[in-house]
Amino acid sequence: MNIGIDGPAGSGKTTAARLLAKKLGIFYLDTGATYRALTLKALNEKIDLFDTTALENIAKNLDLRIDGNEVYLEGQDVSNQIRVPLIDKNISVIVSYPQVRKAMVRLQRKITEQGDFVIEGRDITTVAFPDAEHKFYLDADPKIRAQRRFKELTGKGLDVNFSDIEKDLIRRDQADKNRKVSPLKISDDAIVVDTTGLSIEQTVDEIIKCINSGK
Ligand code: C5P
Repeated sequence: MNIGIDGPAGSGKTTAARLLAKKLGIFYLDTGATYRALTLKALNEKIDLFDTTALENIAKNLDLRIDGNEVYLEGQDVSNQIRVPLIDKNISVIVSYPQVRKAMVRLQRKITEQGDFVIEGRDITTVAFPDAEHKFYLDADPKIRAQRRFKELTGKGLDVNFSDIEKDLIRRDQADKNRKVSPLKISDDAIVVDTTGLSIEQTVDEIIKCINSGK
């Protein structure tokens, strides 16, 4: 059984997906982490971000291992390195290339072959895992989403400015929703959960209630 969750940055989907998987006793995959690791690799290798052939090559041969929240690129733990503003800034162009996405979706499907998964991202319910048994779209007020992201980054000790975070979040929203390939959108059969006034526990309870009622 797969549960797919899509939604914009800061909608709470990563934290909710992780807790949901824990409560259900199944695996969890943050597909954003796969694209983030790819972006890190491209930056490390100083690849021209407009060189689609080089990026496709990297995507096809990415040595990536994901264990829950921990992400290993070529055997190295890059879990923190991939979740910084530099990656946020450069990721949108890379994830817009169809050949790159194709390779990454193949990788995501391979990772999830090992069992039941909660899978979260932007195109999970629409493109990557259209056959997921349960589909959700999480959303929240943009200001609240920016606050969550700000809290997450400052909580890690990063020196960031709220207005930069807010601007970057809105820019990423636009890029994700308007790109030609696999844009972020609400799948026809997804249940929308507005997490603006909800805690993570409440969000997960809402999702479990929907699953138990066969949605
Ligand atoms: O979810 P997260 O913010 O970590 O994702 C980082 C970026 O990766 C997003 O802004 C989005 O552009 C991209 N992404 C995507 N498709 C996914 C997951 C993430 O395009 N399935």
